[in-house]
Amino acid sequence: MSMSIIYLSYLLAASLFILGIKGLTKPRTAVRGNQLSALGMLVAVVVTLLDKNILSYEWIIAGLLLGGAIGAIMATKIQVTAMPQMVALLNGFGGGASLFIAIASLLDPESATHSVAQVAIGVAVLIGAVTLSGSLIAFAKLQELIPGNPIRVPGNKFFNALLFAAALGLAIAIVITPDNTNLLYALACVSLLLGVLLVVPIGGADMPVVIALLNSYSGIAAATTGFITGNTVLIVAGALVGASGIILTKIMCKAMNRSLFNVLFGVMAAGGEAIDADEVYAGKIKSTSPEEVAMMLETAAKVVIVPGYGLAMAQAQHAVRELANLLQSRGTEVLYAIHPVAGRMPGHMNVLLAEAEVPYEQLIEMDEINPQFEQTDVAIVIGANDVTNPMAREDKGSPIYGMPILNVDKARTVIVVKRSLSPGFAGLPNPLFAKDNTLMLFGDGKKEIVELTQSLKEAD
Ligand code: NDP
Repeated sequence: MSMSIIYLSYLLAASLFILGIKGLTKPRTAVRGNQLSALGMLVAVVVTLLDKNILSYEWIIAGLLLGGAIGAIMATKIQVTAMPQMVALLNGFGGGASLFIAIASLLDPESATHSVAQVAIGVAVLIGAVTLSGSLIAFAKLQELIPGNPIRVPGNKFFNALLFAAALGLAIAIVITPDNTNLLYALACVSLLLGVLLVVPIGGADMPVVIALLNSYSGIAAATTGFITGNTVLIVAGALVGASGIILTKIMCKAMNRSLFNVLFGVMAAGGEAIDADEVYAGKIKSTSPEEVAMMLETAAKVVIVPGYGLAMAQAQHAVRELANLLQSRGTEVLYAIHPVAGRMPGHMNVLLAEAEVPYEQLIEMDEINPQFEQTDVAIVIGANDVTNPMAREDKGSPIYGMPILNVDKARTVIVVKRSLSPGFAGLPNPLFAKDNTLMLFGDGKKEIVELTQSLKEAD
């Protein structure tokens, strides 16, 4: 293949990646963005394989069919709630691929003879191995193969710092004496251990943040592998993944009002246990029934639905859509309030509601919907808890103080659908449930919404 065709193809692939990422920033364009990125990846992989004479057409087609089939099966079988562990596994594969390419390059005396490639080998082994072992631990935790809670190891921070220093020392030694393969294996072992120890102390719903971070690492490892093999498109794609992963990590930390340091080395800020739920709720909880809520909805002009993690657990998205359809057919305006960290992964609510074919224009992000709650007749909170907790706005002593929330309590009436008064991920009581304008509809999200829809139909 001529060099100009190769470079033009790489340019096309890189442009498709960038357009793809841009498309992924909005629910409406996300599917198209994904398709564009996948097309870019196809161009990049095929051109690289042909350029380097790695494989013949027959093998490339066979690989595409086999890989495509595995991907299609995984994509159709996976539950949305199991997406974080799948992403963790894929990150691990990416890190592992970079690790093995780096090791193979150093073992091959003809490749990676220049100093840039040797530095890149050290970095790729370090980051690739950390990503591989860290992602496998994340996968095992989320898949409940090992306990998912944070496992605190005494002296963890000190030991990690020591391992990191040792890994850096070994990476430098590899550049100085590239013939000593023992150094390479030692670096791989130290880095694998570091990956395990970095992820073991993290648990629960902090895992998605770690997965976004590991995603970023896998990109950086891929970019360094691009320097080893002299492949421009790998450098570009790796850099894009590295940068977008770290931006996503930052967005998630901000939306949870936590620092990355706190996620990696701490637990939810202390103080949560000190807040007594009985004090918050005693004598102030009013429960309601689907029939009573149906009567309120009959006269409501504007309804905002606030989905959260419990909506995913109850798989209530189709039931909610049906309720919304019914309300709209009666002339009620219906919107959905989307909090950036509702659920357990970024975009969780968008994906769930898209599955039920909720029109994108009804999904309104936090900053845009918050000023509208005051003109909302009924806000229906389904399985959301922390993302509606007014403590984040009002209680300076609260561990979630400062976390941006959906101001549902400003609506005229708030209906909270959940099974009990149990806390959400943050483990805190929610004063919203005790407010004068709040009514609790206790029960499974799907069951209650189906009954509510039925009652509303009967009232017609
Ligand atoms: P929460 O975890 O705060 O609350 C979920 C609520 O759902 C629970 O209180 C539970 O109450 C209820 N629930 C569970 N099952 C059902 C069911 N079948 N039917 C009805 N309700 C049910 O969820 P939010 O979405 O409000 O907040 C997300 C939390 O996760 C935040 O703290 C966020 O910081 C954190 N997080 C989110 C990430 C993301 O990317 N989205 C990443 C990392 C953390 P009950 O048991 O009484 O039914």
